Amino acid sequence: MPAARDLAARRPLNGKLPQPSGPRSPRPGPEAGGRLHGRASGLTLFIDADDTLWENNIHFEAVIRDYCSLLEASGVDGATARATLLGIERVRTKTHGYGVANFNQSLREACRRLAGDDAAAAIIPHIDARCDALRRHDMEVIDGVEPTLEALARRHRLVLFTKGDEADQRDKVARSGLAGWFHAVDVVKEKHPEAYREALIRHGVTGRASWMIGNSPRSDVTPALAAGLGVVFVPHPATWVLELDALPDATHPRLLVLERFAQLTDWF
Ligand SMILES: [Mg+2]
Repeated sequence: MPAARDLAARRPLNGKLPQPSGPRSPRPGPEAGGRLHGRASGLTLFIDADDTLWENNIHFEAVIRDYCSLLEASGVDGATARATLLGIERVRTKTHGYGVANFNQSLREACRRLAGDDAAAAIIPHIDARCDALRRHDMEVIDGVEPTLEALARRHRLVLFTKGDEADQRDKVARSGLAGWFHAVDVVKEKHPEAYREALIRHGVTGRASWMIGNSPRSDVTPALAAGLGVVFVPHPATWVLELDALPDATHPRLLVLERFAQLTDWF
């Protein structure tokens, strides 16, 4: 399978995007009341949020580094601490989802497994405080995102399509200041092909007239292609390891790989 960097900036074989069935017309942006009204005449662009619109995983990584340091002070090897947490997360995310609360519980469970009772009791309050802060950190919108959304929203219908804890995700959307560019915000528990098919039905669009844009091979690329959407993969260097996956063959006709979000306006 090709590496992400090998596909960067690759253009689709046909060199064209599918054209919308109806005429295009400008859409009002946030300056016209902060909400988008009416039916889109262009494509529907489903857009991922974490590590696509704003920095996210770097904040979780900072907590994991602190967790490893705290355990190392108790005599636990850092690599073991990290591997144990990943194993717990791999299991717990399947049943408990992706929010901060579940991350916090996974860290607690790892502390209890690896440190003695006394050490875990001392470490866990620090972990809890760091996780609590995860819900309050400043939002860092990725360079070029807002003007790109502004341009795209004039020509297409934008749907923010994110997975995770409903309250966590909606809070980040609100704090990002980007909500006004989106026709709708969908928060789903998991981005499997069925979730994409349901989204197409919910928004009354076809896969041919829809694209998914995001940084995660596992959540944004593979299942969206399986559901019939086109996909724009915009890799992020800090993508969570559990979101990595093999990419489809480079010749896939509906996969476009870009280096930066801002390059979307060259295509859409
Ligand atoms: Mg993402």
